[in-house]
Amino acid sequence: MSIEVQYRNRAKELLSSGEVKLVVGYTGGTTTDRRRPVFVSSAEQVDRLVLDELCIANLSGYLVTEGLLSDEKRVAIFLRPEGIRSINILAAENQLNPDQVVILGFETAGNTIKLLEGSNALDFIEYVVSLSENPVVSDSDPVIEKLEKMNAQERFSFWQDEFSKCIKCYACRQACPMCYCRRCIVDCNQPQWINTSAHTLGNFEWNIIRAFHLAGRCVECGNCDRACPVNIPLRLINRRMAIESKNSFDHYAGLSMTQEPMLASFKKDDSETFIL
Ligand code: SF4
Ligand code: SF4
Repeated sequence: MSIEVQYRNRAKELLSSGEVKLVVGYTGGTTTDRRRPVFVSSAEQVDRLVLDELCIANLSGYLVTEGLLSDEKRVAIFLRPEGIRSINILAAENQLNPDQVVILGFETAGNTIKLLEGSNALDFIEYVVSLSENPVVSDSDPVIEKLEKMNAQERFSFWQDEFSKCIKCYACRQACPMCYCRRCIVDCNQPQWINTSAHTLGNFEWNIIRAFHLAGRCVECGNCDRACPVNIPLRLINRRMAIESKNSFDHYAGLSMTQEPMLASFKKDDSETFIL
């Protein structure tokens, strides 16, 4: 039985038994090489679900931004490893109740797809720990290595060129499961912290502030990078921040549902003097 059929059957069981009110998954996109999110609310609709190596988007953000858990019923959701880590962060930040989330976990490697055992975030603790020990967060990305070799002025010029393309569409924010603020700093106009016009200073402010807001929280799912209509390589910033989080703070985002936020916690025995 194919993986896709196995997951359709599981979704059908969950919906038929009333264990969940909804399944969030993937279906065919506008072209044959794309997949898009779908919300399935009855067993008769499960044939719409598709599961293959093209299912790459992190769907976890819908649970929060669409208020899918507001009535306290349970929802099943197809999640890749990054999505499972997102659930941990959203739970740690009190944005959702993990008991309401049934995880249909899977991972892809090239053209192969594998189901992950478990159905709630607690079932995946060991798996996520094994991910944190795996050097996915490494500085071996050739573009990052190239950027690291540049001096500060060259690196500034690189990002100036990239950010000059930004049209302030905020697709990166909308696609990010960690960007759930009801009112984003960029939407405030009294005071206006960030200039909304798409010019160099405002673009730097927006992208750097967003990067810092995601430091220690980004799970490197790539949703923002894929959503950017002008192809700014946002993944480079996210990857660099993840490397720094790991190397400087031994922090791997989404390790558990009780993980303390990297930039909002401290250790009393910290060697730096700021704590004295
Ligand atoms: S910043 Fe981008 S890569 Fe990181 S969690 Fe958000 S969408 Fe995913
Ligand atoms: S998606 Fe790209 S163009 Fe749009 S605001 Fe984000 S960085 Fe700028």
